Amino acid sequence: MPLIFAFPNTYAVGITSLGYQMVWATFAQRSDVWVSRLFTDAAETLPRQPELVGFSLSWELDYGNVFDLLDFLKIPLRSSDRTEADPLVFGGGPVLTANPEPFADFFDLILVGDGEILLDALIEAYQSLRSASRSQKLRGLAQVPGIYVPSLYGVTYTSPQGPIASIQPLDDSIPERVSKQTYRGNTLSTSAIVTPRAAWENIFMVEVVRSCPEMCRFCLASYLTLPFRTASLEESLLPAIDRGLKVTDRIGLLGASVTQHPEFETLLAYLLQPQYAHVRLSIASVRTNTVTPTLASALAQHGTQSLTIAVESGSERLRELINKKLETEAILQAVYNAQAGGLQGLKLYGMVGIPTETAADIEATIAMMTTLKKAAPQLRLTLGCSTFVPKAHTPFQWYGVNPQSEKRLQLLQKKLRSQGIDFRPESYKWSVIQALISRGDRRLSRLLETVRNYGDSLGSYRRAFKALKAHLSPLEYYVHETWDRDQILPWSLLQGPIPLETLKKQGLGSP
Ligand code: SF4
Repeated sequence: MPLIFAFPNTYAVGITSLGYQMVWATFAQRSDVWVSRLFTDAAETLPRQPELVGFSLSWELDYGNVFDLLDFLKIPLRSSDRTEADPLVFGGGPVLTANPEPFADFFDLILVGDGEILLDALIEAYQSLRSASRSQKLRGLAQVPGIYVPSLYGVTYTSPQGPIASIQPLDDSIPERVSKQTYRGNTLSTSAIVTPRAAWENIFMVEVVRSCPEMCRFCLASYLTLPFRTASLEESLLPAIDRGLKVTDRIGLLGASVTQHPEFETLLAYLLQPQYAHVRLSIASVRTNTVTPTLASALAQHGTQSLTIAVESGSERLRELINKKLETEAILQAVYNAQAGGLQGLKLYGMVGIPTETAADIEATIAMMTTLKKAAPQLRLTLGCSTFVPKAHTPFQWYGVNPQSEKRLQLLQKKLRSQGIDFRPESYKWSVIQALISRGDRRLSRLLETVRNYGDSLGSYRRAFKALKAHLSPLEYYVHETWDRDQILPWSLLQGPIPLETLKKQGLGSP
C-alpha cells in the first residue's frame, strides 16, 4: 500500500525530529506499506496514487508548508473537497495532539497519542477497509481508539462571533470523545537515521524519558504526554547507545527532563567510561538541581560547553504558583557548579506574562540575574525569555497572553544587557500567533487560508481577522482574554490523561 509520510519543513529539520524518524521507521518495517518520505526541499520517489498521506506537525507555523505540500501533491486543501480519487490525509505530532481544531478541516484523520500504538492500528484498520468508499473508510477508522475524524463531528457556536455552544458526533455510531492513546512499554525511541545532513549533524538520538513528572502548570511538554515514562536502562538505553556508537561519536539524550530518569547517574557513569572519552554528548534539558559538579565536568569533557536550565522566573512567588519546585539557592548552586565543572556557559530559560505577574516579579528576575552574574563572573550567562502562551490540556489553558509582556521583555533587555548578560527574547508577536493557534477553534481554518495570501506577519493575521470579522471571534478573545472555566473548549472532545476538573483545581482558582 503506497503511503507518503511528509515533514512540513526542510530535510535537515525533519530528519532531526526523533518523532518523525520513529513514525517513518515503523511504516518502513511493515511489509504491507511502501512508504516514501517528503520534505519541502527533498523527496524520495513518490507513488503516483498514494492511498495515505501523513504529516508530522511539530511547529505551529509549519501549517503553511502543509498547504504547499498538499498543493504539490495536487490534493485539495480541505477534507470536504477531496474525492474518491484522493488519498486520506492524516496528521500527528504535538501541535495536532494538543489542539487539532484550527487544522481540523484540512485533515481526514488526526492521530491522538503515541505512535507506538496508533500507527499499526491505523494501517491494520485501513487494510480491512481498503476496498470501501471514502466515507465508509472514515467511519470505520473513527472507531479505532485515538483516531479522530474531524468531519464526523459538528461544532456549533452561540453566535457567529461567540464561543462554542456544542461539539457533537454526527450520529450515534461515532464515539462521543476520542481518547488519547498511551504507550506503556519500557523501550522508547532511538534514531533510525544518522546523517551529516541533519540540523544536528551525525547525531544518534536516544529518548531517555517521555513527559516530565514536575507538572509545571503551563507546561505542554509535561501535561500533553503524561504519564511520565522512562526507558529501561538495561533493555533500552544501554543497547541503544552501543548501537549508536557503532555509527557515530555523537549521542543526544532526549526528553523533557532527561536527568529525572531514576538511573540517570548510572547512564552517565556508563558514558564516562574511558573508552567513550571521544564521545560528544548532548543533553536536551536538565533540572536545575541536578547540575552537580560531576555532571558539569562530564559534559565539559564530552564536548558540551554550555548547559540549559529552565528557571521560568526570578520571583519565588511565581515559581511557587506555577509549581516549579525550585529555590533561588538551588539556581545559585547550579551556577557555581557549572563554573566549577569547567562549563563555559549557562543558559537559563525564563518567561514573562505568567498569570498574576506584576512589575515586582520582573524586578525579582533582574535581581536574580545580577546575583548570578556576580557569583560566577567567568561563566557566559544567557537568559532566553519567552512570553507565557496558554496551552491546551494544561491548568493554565484558560489564561490569556498578557499584553504587558512585550514591554517587560524590553525592560529585561535594557537592564540585563547593560550588565553583560546575554538576553535573548523570543518574539512577542510570534507568541501572539502561537496563542491564537493554541486556543483556536475550527473557524480559524478560513483565517489560516486567508493569511496565506497576505504573508505570515502579525499584520497579516490582523488583516485577515478584519476581513473575516463576521465569521469568527476577535483575535483578543483567542489570544488575550481569560476564558470562562465552564465554557466548552475547542479541544474538549479529546480525552487526555488528566480530567478537566483536576486541571481546573490545579489552576489559580476562579479567574
Ligand atoms: S520541569 Fe520543565 S519539562 Fe518539567 S514540567 Fe516543568 S517546565 Fe515542563
